[in-house]
Amino acid sequence: PLTSAPRPVSTPQAYSQYPQGDSQNGPPLMDHSMAQSPVSQPYSQGAMNLSGPHPSYSQQYGAPPPMQQVTNQMSGMQIGSGPPTSVGPGYAHHPSSQPPISAAYSSAAPPSYTQAPPPLSAAPSQPPLPVNLQPPSLTMVAPSPQQQPFPSAHHLSQPFVSSSPYLGPPSQPQAPPVSQQQSFPPGPPAQQPFPNSAPPPVTQASYSGPIPPPSMSQQQANHLPPGPMQQQQPPQPGMQGGYPTQQNGAFGQPRGPQPGYAGPQYPVQQNYGAGPAPAPAPPAQKRLDPDSIPSPIQVIEDDRVNKSSEPFTTGVKGQAPPLVTTNFQVKDQGNASPRFIRCTAYNMPCTADMAKQSQVPLAAVIKPLAMLPPDETPPYIVDHGDGGPIRCNRCKAYMCPYMQFIEGGRRFQCGFCSCVTEVPPHYFQHLDHTGKRVDCYDRPELSQGSYEFVATVDYCKNNKLPQPPSFIFFIDVSYNAVKSGMVNIVCQELKTLLDYLPRENPEADSVVRVGFVTYNKVLHFYNVKSSLAQPQMMVVSDVSDMFLPLLDGFLVGVNDSRMVIESLLDQIPEMFADTRETETVFGPVIQAGLEALKAADCAGKLFVFHSTLPIAEAPGKLKNREDKKLVGTDKEKSLFQPQSGFYSNLSKECVAQGCCVDLFLFPNQYVDVATLGVVPVSTGGSVYKYTYFQAETDRERFLNDLRRDVQKPMGFDAVMRVRTSTGIRATDFFGSFFMSNTTDVELAGLDCDKTVTVEFRHDDKLSEDTGALMQCAVLYTSCSGQRRLRVHNMAVNCCSQLADLYRNCETDTIINFFSKYAYRSILNTPTKTVRDTMVNQCAQILACYRKNCASPSSAGQLILPECMKLLPVYLNCVLKSDVLQPGADISLDDRAYLRQLLSCMDVSESHIFFYPRLLPLVKLDGGSLPMAVRNSEERLSKGGVYLLETGLHLFLWVGANAQQELLSNIFGTPTFSQIDPNMTSLPELDNPFSQRLREIIDSFRSQRSRYMKLMVVKQEDKAELIFKHFLCEDKSTSGGASYVDFLCHMHKEIRQLLS
Ligand SMILES: [Zn+2]
Repeated sequence: PLTSAPRPVSTPQAYSQYPQGDSQNGPPLMDHSMAQSPVSQPYSQGAMNLSGPHPSYSQQYGAPPPMQQVTNQMSGMQIGSGPPTSVGPGYAHHPSSQPPISAAYSSAAPPSYTQAPPPLSAAPSQPPLPVNLQPPSLTMVAPSPQQQPFPSAHHLSQPFVSSSPYLGPPSQPQAPPVSQQQSFPPGPPAQQPFPNSAPPPVTQASYSGPIPPPSMSQQQANHLPPGPMQQQQPPQPGMQGGYPTQQNGAFGQPRGPQPGYAGPQYPVQQNYGAGPAPAPAPPAQKRLDPDSIPSPIQVIEDDRVNKSSEPFTTGVKGQAPPLVTTNFQVKDQGNASPRFIRCTAYNMPCTADMAKQSQVPLAAVIKPLAMLPPDETPPYIVDHGDGGPIRCNRCKAYMCPYMQFIEGGRRFQCGFCSCVTEVPPHYFQHLDHTGKRVDCYDRPELSQGSYEFVATVDYCKNNKLPQPPSFIFFIDVSYNAVKSGMVNIVCQELKTLLDYLPRENPEADSVVRVGFVTYNKVLHFYNVKSSLAQPQMMVVSDVSDMFLPLLDGFLVGVNDSRMVIESLLDQIPEMFADTRETETVFGPVIQAGLEALKAADCAGKLFVFHSTLPIAEAPGKLKNREDKKLVGTDKEKSLFQPQSGFYSNLSKECVAQGCCVDLFLFPNQYVDVATLGVVPVSTGGSVYKYTYFQAETDRERFLNDLRRDVQKPMGFDAVMRVRTSTGIRATDFFGSFFMSNTTDVELAGLDCDKTVTVEFRHDDKLSEDTGALMQCAVLYTSCSGQRRLRVHNMAVNCCSQLADLYRNCETDTIINFFSKYAYRSILNTPTKTVRDTMVNQCAQILACYRKNCASPSSAGQLILPECMKLLPVYLNCVLKSDVLQPGADISLDDRAYLRQLLSCMDVSESHIFFYPRLLPLVKLDGGSLPMAVRNSEERLSKGGVYLLETGLHLFLWVGANAQQELLSNIFGTPTFSQIDPNMTSLPELDNPFSQRLREIIDSFRSQRSRYMKLMVVKQEDKAELIFKHFLCEDKSTSGGASYVDFLCHMHKEIRQLLS
């Protein structure tokens, strides 16, 4: 049983929807395990090999290596089996974990952008060598059904056991070991209950083809001409003029006609890998063809073509949804829409052993209040009357499609814990001949995956119905805040924005009350009572023990006090226009908001507009501790931890009151985002950051963010609980929230953009017959003050064959989980160790597949499961992200900010964050978008214009030879040199191309939770460095590997695990 305290349904529950005494969920041991798992063993061995016959790595970071060395590099890229010199920089083989920092890097940074990568000249550039492209051979094979699903060889299983960083340290309580023979009888995977009965396609690519004939190598070399900006490929038949080809068929298909390429294995490969001494380098001039390795663009495009035409119905258990990049409609037929819940695996392994062996994380990314597109129905609201929602007596799961009615409908058996509960008389209904209630399809809770219950007073804090929430605005009026124009902009905007406070009924006025405070090192409260002719200011200068100087007139209805509020907002910029005060407080600001909500006995949200490090004497005062020397050292983690416990303690109080904090930062220097962000992150709030804010150029972005943030649907005083069927349980949680026990996720606020990622572990064996269930219930107060329960249900299949697990995973969701895990881990673990652990776990995932699911083949072949073939490229993007592998120019605040931002991203946001969308602007006709190209410089044509979307930024890259007509259509000038790189919006020209492009930009912006500022980047301008930073398939200037190099490295890791 999951719980130990059965209660009758009608028992009044104090506030929490959840029974007490659920002690079975142990504490999450993740950080612990992270701390305990140093660099993986196989990895270190690889590093040791390197130090022998090869030059030290430091040389690789500097000037391009001499010719011979490059040749070795090239051969090393082949399979990763030879001397792996070139794959090094990104993987921290370097004896000291310092990232390469070149003095040239920082000086070249454009002042307005702190994340600028260094100039190209400092980067290890592509050496001007003739290179041959290795022809891959592509084979589609099914997992061998005869194969023993679990390895018996000790030499293989050992690495899995000894280096399993994510699934817990050896001390982790595990389910009792189950005999492999009994649990996993070998059987054909075709017998598994998988919706698509065809065997899963397996992508198999060999990078070990024959040495191409000399003539061919000449020809191939043309594809990769030396030097930057000369890398366009020659036009190929069927190509649109001037643009690099997009490979169709992607993985493994040769580019262009390559007769005679599908040859036998390259014999030299056979000597590689396993032996302790590296074999001599094969003849040089071999390099992986980027078109032969799995292409994100092709996978995205295939999914779009195959899955966007039909609605995705959620009735089929264990069916992986279309990718987040595909536009599709969802029909709720009993499981939650993928807009609410996405899983890493839709076939969960039956046992803990199997899960551990595969190392595939079992997690769900849950966005409980996600907004749905207009053509999908929002969750219905169900009212079960005074008794409250019908629930299982024992585990307290809510009525859902997985409850089975028995005994003619008088009782129901819980799908989660199997306990049988009486049906209350008012809920009784007869069953049809199939055992279903005859009202099944009239009741959302019996037929839908997602719905809401009206909560009764038993579900309210202190058994009292909640008050409507309040919004309180705190405006920093110190010198920098005024001077940047922020104060003026905020005050002007609030005058109109207050008419758009959230409401459930668009016809009615919002019931949200508002209050206003300004501050520098003292706080000014305003009485805006409707009966006043003018607002009154009350100053609290003793900030050491914050109190609220007024009750009546502080929180008011907008319509009642409109005149007074407008007067106040007009006066604030004038009052502080000549301020000389540069110091600010921050702790007392939040304390004041908390006290105000306490006094009003309501939940709410604080909007804090803040500019500087709070150094004024007050609780929560901070010091400047930015120390770049710690970056890359074992002490780096301290930079991401809060300076003191003050804000963590304050967070607890805020959460208890339902006080959510949104922080808008306008820093000109270090403000310690790691510390200031603690309260927002713990209360379900958001942090926005506008570094070097300038009214002219940043106003639009800030105002759009603010408008969305104020208006967006949200719940208050929320608590979320994930129940699961017997055999698995939720053990770890990632996101913006607070937890005071191991099961309840407390969110002072929960808005429509916030995501909680939940990890599951086995505590028993799962059954293939019943699968696994999860139910996510969120109790919250709506913006109109109603107490509600939103319920999302999800059922997945369970499997006893590894092949079934590997055919039904969602790589984008796995990456979402991994990145959140890694970004959290750097709080307690050296960054290098975090990176190594990630590489190792992914290698184990792929090695397990290779060992157990792929047909036997040469070790020189890299074989990836079809649904995970992008795992290496995406993982590499995570590893070389600014948080895990910073360039010299990125500030600590930026890293802390990105770290916090990622923690509540959904899968769609994390996908584009790590692999931005790069669109060639060729022909913009009709409603469809041009097909994206891969994020690499060699895909850019000098004659083209490209739009790059990162989820946080938009770039318009203009090639130096862009066609005049194109430039005229977009910019209104045919001359490259006349394009103003400082423009942040495109001119509104009266031609279809311009209109369509602006439409595309608008639609991209509307899909993201934060406004993306447009930046025009002209080829070979200084600002191009920023743009190139996001070309994530290329080598990064901070030492991150190119995709090709990383894939080779992964292959080597996999082979080490298998040998
Ligand atoms: Zn139950």
